[in-house]
This record gives sequence, C-alpha cells and structure tokens, in this order.
Amino acid sequence: MQCTKCDNHAVYRLSDQLYCKDHFCRYFENKVYKTIKKFSLFRPDDKIAVASSGGKDSLALLYTVMLYTNKYNIPFFALAVDEGIAGYRDSSLDDLKFFCSQFDIKYHIVSFQDKINTTLDNIKDKGISLNKKPCTVCGIFRRTLLNRAARELGATKLATGHNLDDEAQSLLMNTMKGNMSHNAALGPVTGLSSTKGFVQRVKPLYFMLEKETRLYAFIKNFKVDFNECPNISLSFRAGVRDILNNMESTSPGTKNGIVNSFLEILPLLKEKYRNEKPFSFCERCNDPCSGKICNACQMEDLLCLKVN
Ligand code: SF4
Repeated sequence: MQCTKCDNHAVYRLSDQLYCKDHFCRYFENKVYKTIKKFSLFRPDDKIAVASSGGKDSLALLYTVMLYTNKYNIPFFALAVDEGIAGYRDSSLDDLKFFCSQFDIKYHIVSFQDKINTTLDNIKDKGISLNKKPCTVCGIFRRTLLNRAARELGATKLATGHNLDDEAQSLLMNTMKGNMSHNAALGPVTGLSSTKGFVQRVKPLYFMLEKETRLYAFIKNFKVDFNECPNISLSFRAGVRDILNNMESTSPGTKNGIVNSFLEILPLLKEKYRNEKPFSFCERCNDPCSGKICNACQMEDLLCLKVN
C-alpha cells in the first residue's frame, strides 16, 4: 500500500487515509500541537514538568513536548517516579536516562523508597489482603509524589502521557463503578491553576490512540521496552481495556466516540459536581485534597507505613 500523500510505503491507516513513516510522524505531531493549542495546555510563562517513566507513552510525550516548547522557548524537564517494581521500573528508568542524555533534557526521579520508606513490591501483598489492588496503591502515591515534586521544582504545569485509550478506559471504569463525579475531574486539563499547592495536569496526547503512540515511538527508534508493568493484569483497568479493544476492532472509532461524547457533556458534569467535594488541605501533610485527610495519608495509615 502507498501513502496517500506521497509514493512511500504506507505504515498506518486511519479511515481512508494511508500514512508513510514521515507523514505519520507529521500527523502525530500536528495533532498533539493542535491539542496543546486548542485547550491552552501550555502558556509562554509556564515551566513544565513532564511525567516520564521511560515507557513509550512518556517518551513520545517528552519528545513532542520538547519539539513544541523549543519552538516557543518554554522551559521543561522530565519528572519520574520510581515505585520500586523490580525488573520493570529499573529498566524503564534506564531508558529515560538514556533518552534525556540523547536530547540534553534535565530529569528528576523521586522514589517510593525515599518518600514513603518502602517499595510497591514490598507493600503490594498487604494491599491485596486489604482489598487494594497494586495499581490503586501505586496510583495514589504516584499522583501525590508527582504533584509534590513538580510543585517543589517550581513547575506550573504537569504534563502526563494519558492517551485516548487511557481516557476512554477511565470514563468507562468510573461509569461502571457508579463514580460519575470522578468523570467530572477528567478531560485534557485537570484541576484549577489557582488551587494552592496543586500543579495543574495537562494531557497533550489526549486524542492519540495507544497504538499510534506505540508506532510513533517505534518509528522514532526510541530505546524503549514495550513490555507492560507486571501488575497491570491484576487491575480493573486491564479488563476494561480488553473490552474497549475488542469493540474498537469490530467498530473502529469507538474510543474516539466515547471521549468526544464525554467532552460534550463535561461542562455539565463540572457544573453539577463543582461544589460536591469542596477543596481543602490535608490535616496531616497539608497537600490539597477534598476531605480532611488526603488519599495518600489515608493509604499510609491503612498499610501502617512509617513515613518520616
Ligand atoms: Fe503502578 Fe499499576 Fe502503572 Fe504498574 S500498571 S506502574 S502498578 S499504576
């Protein structure tokens, strides 16, 4: 098959358009730039922390953010969390360090070991015995550590590698669990820039399919391990991901349809749930949260962690 725009061999098809490697990369980068512009994800006076684990999504994110911010002279750096997942995170962080040295990008790594005195590997069995899956425990601490580190390093935005698949999965998961108010917190921009102590999260890959991100990382020849975290198979998300992938293969455009429908009703959801959980500060750590004690401090208590 031939690229629709030139004589080169096509590597990707999107409805009736065929893309060669070069035109696919242009399509990918232009779509990311359009997302950044349409939702005003970055401003000229921003300093951007790019959440990067060394996986394909985060390297595709880091690379496209680098291209964009270089053009507009916006400072950025990579920010990683080492959860302590033996045989997985150590190698992905090696890939991140290699990538950053290739492109002369500053990076910072915060670890569970340093911040909560243990690793995910050490606490995941206890979490499972208390009905908390590894991804639940990991997600709560990861979000907290990323926000704290981004804030301490002076970032005004935290860019994350969430793609269209992730968003469609989250929407379906929240809906299946009856957590519609959690959907109000999704979208390309999360949280208010005015919330003290909270670094606003933005998602430049919001409209990119996971398979497009994988292809981009592959074409760009990023040194990246395409293996998944060993804990993902235990998660609710993995089941929802499989359902959505099956639907997408029989009805292409399903994921796009879910996310675009959601964006139409997002303003209504925000309005409905705006005052449901008033913003406050954790009585323990003083991080912004929606109750008296933040999720990370509650999880520390549940797992009986001894945190400095
Ligand atoms: Fe953490 Fe789950 Fe992601 Fe693994 S898959 S890094 S356990 S959130």
